[in-house]
Amino acid sequence: MSVATELKINFERLRNNIDEISQIGRSQDHGIYRQAFTENDLQARNWLSEKIKAAGLELEVDGAANIHGYLGDREKPSVVVGSHIDSVPAAGPLDGTLGVLTGLECLQRLKEEGVSLDYPLELVSFSDEEGRFGGLLGSQSFVGDINPQRIHQSRDLNGVSLTDAMKACGYDAIRALDARRNPRSVRSYLELHIEQGPVLDSLDIPIGVVSHITGLFKWSIRLIGRPDHAGTTPMHMRADALAGLAEFSMEIPRVLEENGTDRSVATIGKVDLFPGTANTVPGQVEFSLDCRDTDAKILQDLMDAFRRALSAIARRRDLMFEFDVLSEVDPVACDDSIQRMIQSASEAVSAQTHVMPSGAAHDAQIVARIAPVGMIFVPSKAGRSHSSAEWTDWEDIETGANVALHTLVQMARD
Ligand SMILES: [Zn+2]
Repeated sequence: MSVATELKINFERLRNNIDEISQIGRSQDHGIYRQAFTENDLQARNWLSEKIKAAGLELEVDGAANIHGYLGDREKPSVVVGSHIDSVPAAGPLDGTLGVLTGLECLQRLKEEGVSLDYPLELVSFSDEEGRFGGLLGSQSFVGDINPQRIHQSRDLNGVSLTDAMKACGYDAIRALDARRNPRSVRSYLELHIEQGPVLDSLDIPIGVVSHITGLFKWSIRLIGRPDHAGTTPMHMRADALAGLAEFSMEIPRVLEENGTDRSVATIGKVDLFPGTANTVPGQVEFSLDCRDTDAKILQDLMDAFRRALSAIARRRDLMFEFDVLSEVDPVACDDSIQRMIQSASEAVSAQTHVMPSGAAHDAQIVARIAPVGMIFVPSKAGRSHSSAEWTDWEDIETGANVALHTLVQMARD
């Protein structure tokens, strides 16, 4: 056995770190509340900064409050590894955090072992991935996709501005503009993340090699009919907006089958009925449509098909339809050579792999704009995530961290 295959992370230390940070922001309902730029987030940031220093890495916080830890000669482009430590409300302990803590463990281990590499390694913990202020704020700043307008206008659901929230934590929001990296300073990016879906758990395979990160479009759609008396209006004389929505929702599988792929998914997750009283025909319905696929062309076809389906339903049912585009995100392909490195790292630690797309958005998708990216998934128990029920077996965490370690070594060598 070569020296390289014997190289392993310190699992006890990783486990202790996961246990420690899991206490920060944990509430009595067992959920973790570490939304970006809250007191709990700040506490977790301080905890991480201390760990980076204690590991002997060079600590730096950029203008977007992204936390970095460097190992090696910073004159050269770095191999970046990381994710995020902020959370949704009532979160589990691993979403994002696992990627940051395994990254930290890998760098610490490589430093302790004095492993010689051709490129420096850089740990990063990105700010507000989860979206208190829109999401992916830190990685977007990192690639330069941020502007003063967004910084000034961003508010959370309670109306607190990004500027005020960052100020309360000691940061100047406008400095997020300074977090922009010269693409030449980033050689490549690796993110380990929990799958947040049921596929690996159901296959009983510890390592997912991510091939693509899905793109999506999100619409807010209104079907507008007429609010009439529920007692006096005969059924055939109604313009019932909810009936239109019901028909549309039944058409989703057909639209996906005819225009999508087996990776296409579409969801109506939010519905508001107006006027919303029991004795009035619903004259208007406003609902969301979230649609995802890994292929940009397919997404375009799906947009066209959904538009046609809606206008046919509106015509048949005497309704008007309007929609606003809330977001459009292009799909991203993970780098082929990094995927091969993850495969060979998995062989080195005898771990089975499954090649799969990511249905959720991740910082990697943003970083892909300036550098090749790779992603490693580890199984989520029963696919649960964004919930305190989120969990991954310790054994799978250890395997994933070792695969990340061996992948990073390859990424940082010529
Ligand atoms: Zn995440």
